[in-house]
Amino acid sequence: MPTDTRTGAPEPAAQDRTAPAKTAGRPLGLGDVALTDGLLGHWQRRNAAATLPHAVEQVRAAGVLDNFRRVAEQTEEPFRGGYPFADTDAYKTLEAAAYELARGGEHDSGEHDAGRAAVRAFYEEAVHLIEGAQGDDGYLSSFHQGTDTPVEPWADLAGGHELYNLGHLIQGALAAARRLGDDRLLNVARRFADLVVDRFGEEGRAEYCGHPQVETALVELYRETGHEPYLRQAELFVERRGSGLFAGAPFGPAYYADHAPLRDLDTVTGHAVRMVYLAAGATDVAIERGDTARTDHLLRLWDDMVRTKSYVTGGIGSRHSDEAFGDRYELPSERAYAETCAAIGTMQWGWRLFLATGSAAVLDHVERVLYNGFAAGVSLEGTRFFYDNPLQRRPDHTDGRPADPAEPLRRRWFGCACCPPNAARWISGLQDHVALETPDGLTVALLTACRIRSAALTVDVVTDYPWDGRVTVRVLAARDEPATLTLRVPAWATTPRVTVDGAPIAGEPGDSEISHGWLRLTRAWRPGQEVVLDLPMRPTLVVSHPAVDATRGAVAVVRGPVVHCLERADSPAPLDELVVHTVGAGTVSERTAGGDSPSDDPVLRHAVTAHVSRRPAPSDDPYPAADRTDPPTPSTTTPVALVPYHLWANREPGAMRVWLRHT
Ligand SMILES: [Zn+2]
Repeated sequence: MPTDTRTGAPEPAAQDRTAPAKTAGRPLGLGDVALTDGLLGHWQRRNAAATLPHAVEQVRAAGVLDNFRRVAEQTEEPFRGGYPFADTDAYKTLEAAAYELARGGEHDSGEHDAGRAAVRAFYEEAVHLIEGAQGDDGYLSSFHQGTDTPVEPWADLAGGHELYNLGHLIQGALAAARRLGDDRLLNVARRFADLVVDRFGEEGRAEYCGHPQVETALVELYRETGHEPYLRQAELFVERRGSGLFAGAPFGPAYYADHAPLRDLDTVTGHAVRMVYLAAGATDVAIERGDTARTDHLLRLWDDMVRTKSYVTGGIGSRHSDEAFGDRYELPSERAYAETCAAIGTMQWGWRLFLATGSAAVLDHVERVLYNGFAAGVSLEGTRFFYDNPLQRRPDHTDGRPADPAEPLRRRWFGCACCPPNAARWISGLQDHVALETPDGLTVALLTACRIRSAALTVDVVTDYPWDGRVTVRVLAARDEPATLTLRVPAWATTPRVTVDGAPIAGEPGDSEISHGWLRLTRAWRPGQEVVLDLPMRPTLVVSHPAVDATRGAVAVVRGPVVHCLERADSPAPLDELVVHTVGAGTVSERTAGGDSPSDDPVLRHAVTAHVSRRPAPSDDPYPAADRTDPPTPSTTTPVALVPYHLWANREPGAMRVWLRHT
């Protein structure tokens, strides 16, 4: 879950390949970390002003509140929407609402009052209806409860999603309790969780949900309440999975991550969202149990996923069929599924692995997901969404629907609406994934413009990251004794430079203050002191592993953590006819600094320039002899703008490529 993970994480495993000691600590959350004027802060303002009010409108229109009402008021209305997990659209929206209502007017100057009033009204109505819909025994699933109940409660664990629903209820409830001091939802969640412990506990039915999610939520509920049976229940759900409960279920057991126990896997398989949600829950359990063997296994599983089953955007799940992981290196661009929820699940898992191990490399990948595979899921204005996030759109792509050149690629909502409210809740909780309080100081895990208050240090982080590599940390307040300020230094920044109050840090071998991906500065800090971390940000051509057939011979352009792409709108020729040769030094905004457009264009502002040539039109022979396919050597090249991948499809629909021909 994206909210607080208020655990005292154990000391990192000594054998971890990237973990310096003492990087893990207590995550700082809302109230201690405020995102200011950087990209992440911009996303939060957009979330509060546009995405969340839009989600409220859509969740209402889809009948999700009416589904609770029909149970609370015992009406004859039919269940709307058809999906037994529709309740979670409300729970996710409530989670985001709790954050944004708690943040109050921090993010705007009053122009969004109408949207905030709608969010507040939704929050109150939803909480009231959810309280009213809960059964006397604590059970709550509006799909299973109404007067026209199609399925008995607990009769279909593979597809019923009741425990999945509980997971999102818990997360929404914890956000409301922690952020707003409102325990109403938490009381509902605990009653349902207690019922679940009774039914599925140590002496109960050795069963589990078809869709993991409740595991990580139960651990967080344990952290909040100290009630150990919640932790044990999460552990039981993790350990039981793989016993073959869903052997005969539709789609087969791998779809439910039930083909083998998680501890026996050497690679992630099956439905991508389910797998990474399960892995996040397992990591939570491992943290609480101090089980380093389990953590080590989960880290190996993560590394395998990152190396062999992740797109350059951080997206996962390369098969539309079953929304599943493919084989290792099966990473087609145009058919990438890369669900937005799977990106969120990856970040949830990665954050927990970081807490458990202190690994900066894990956070590097989380950041890749954040700025690419996840961010593409939400439109520039915040009210349209991608469910799947391919890395290529062919010019004649119709997505199975009649081609309509005017149709925007992102949709306003979905019949199966898991992704949009999930994005809203994730963005509302971004500040919880920025910094940790450690026994000796403060760790900044994500580099972004913010103000952080911790026991040892209060700092302003001033930066335009990820667009610019300069990160300035200004000390606003410090305790009297020495404290360690720790900043993550991404692995792609091969030659970082650091100054403290203008004086360069030597970084002598053996005495280096940068190691294992962390800059660690221990000082008796004083207000006014300033640390400047300069990360070189040059557009770079990258290739994929040679085993990835789909992108062999192609290059992608990456600048810092941001992956770029070429859209038809910026190309002088059909994308498939272009060959890229080199990439320019800076971004459009750097080259036109102080000037006018295109640096004012929100899509083009951070574009980089690639130099391309146009390849002659191929022969009509689809499979000519190899010696006729050698590319000519270009005598001249043409510059084209490559925009950040996450900003694609915000102009007219058209072809797009992340991977460009290089040979
Ligand atoms: Zn989704």
